Amino acid sequence: MDAAEFRRRGREMVDYVADYLENIEQRPVYPDLEPGYLRSLIPSEAPLEPESYEDVMKDVERVIMPGAASPACTELETVMLDWLGKMLQLPECFIAGTDGHGGGVIQGTASEATLISLLAARCKAIRRVQATNPEISEAEVLSKLVAYTSEQAHSSVERAALIGGVMMRKVPTDKTYAVGGHMLKQMVEEDKAAGFIPFYVTKHSGIECVCLFQFCATLGTTPSCAFDHTTELGPICNDENMWMHIDAAYAGSAFICPEFRPLLNGIEFADSFNFNPHKWLLVNFDCSAMWVKKRTDIIGAFKMEPLYLKHENQESGLVTDYRHWQIPLGRRFRSLKLWFVFRMYGLKGLQAHIRKQVALAKEFESLVRADKRFEICAEVIMGLVCFRLKGSNELNQNLLKKITKSQEIHLVPCQLSGRFVLRFAICARTTESRHIQQAWRHITQLTFELLQEPSH
Ligand code: PLP
Repeated sequence: MDAAEFRRRGREMVDYVADYLENIEQRPVYPDLEPGYLRSLIPSEAPLEPESYEDVMKDVERVIMPGAASPACTELETVMLDWLGKMLQLPECFIAGTDGHGGGVIQGTASEATLISLLAARCKAIRRVQATNPEISEAEVLSKLVAYTSEQAHSSVERAALIGGVMMRKVPTDKTYAVGGHMLKQMVEEDKAAGFIPFYVTKHSGIECVCLFQFCATLGTTPSCAFDHTTELGPICNDENMWMHIDAAYAGSAFICPEFRPLLNGIEFADSFNFNPHKWLLVNFDCSAMWVKKRTDIIGAFKMEPLYLKHENQESGLVTDYRHWQIPLGRRFRSLKLWFVFRMYGLKGLQAHIRKQVALAKEFESLVRADKRFEICAEVIMGLVCFRLKGSNELNQNLLKKITKSQEIHLVPCQLSGRFVLRFAICARTTESRHIQQAWRHITQLTFELLQEPSH
């Protein structure tokens, strides 16, 4: 959709909303629909090819408006997360379908999804301990829980532990900045040798050691887009009874392409998985897709049933009460964004978008590699290129200062193996090869100027 069409459709949408408000008294207060009505009205998978805006709008009338805003809001979300889960080829256990035990939910951000998985895992661990040792208090168990994550994990993972009031241990990474099975295993073994793990409980003296309860793996780390080895980590988590959450906030979108899907292998061991379609799948902020293998794990952790929230279908098993899957009670109709984007691009259009951006990153990488003054600092797998000038951290900090001051491009740095590294990230929908070339010309011009300065 170009800018002219966007303007036109935007005006039409304002008219649509105004008509709705003007005629709202003609609409029934309560929808005359059976739970689950929506699934049979739309296909079970996203289209391969793009569809027209008119077709989608016709379906808004046919599919959504009879159940607006409820139950359409909930039901479209479940079905869209099934569509998206199928696009990613998630194992069947994550797909809600009509009678699955898993399913998806839209959270606002990856940070929320990580926090929710941690709280659900925490609750599960506490219940497990208390099931055999009811005399031990929740506070006592809580003080012994330990979660693990990579030293390269996003700060939101550590923050989740902080909010959840649990200890978090950081697992070191290999030379590709990823956590392998042996690293986690080693840390777990060290903890066991120190008498911590597996947690054990003595009836009269309380818990004498720490209880492992969660590992948060990252697929596509923030600093360098590294991929933890989930095929190795998964079995360890399963053996140790640890909840495995996978945070693929940025890179998850690429798994809709078969050539990137192998990076998601190991998902079958995970308890929960999350990525942000608002980062790289052409969906506007906010839309963070999260799946759980067993929805009872998550619902069990947050369920509250005051009278004013009770409804007649809640015990039927036919409706999904997303309020139990998230921290807030109220929620927006975010699945409409997914529905529109999936249909207007089609799976093929979305794959083309990812592939184009990865190709642009590769183009930038070749430019860097061809200039002997620079080095590439991590394998370029997706749309992120980590590079630096060969030389000191100070030199690279000065280059970044010049880049920032010139206000032409925006780069965010990172630290890899103690080295100051520049990150070139391609994420805007409109980025073209000419932008890459222009950015590189700009960087090399500033480099030339920097190296001319007397201090260098
Ligand atoms: N996890 C990873 C790997 C990220 O790269 C980011 C943000 O860049 C986050 C989590 C946090 O994302 P959000 O803003 O959705 O909480």
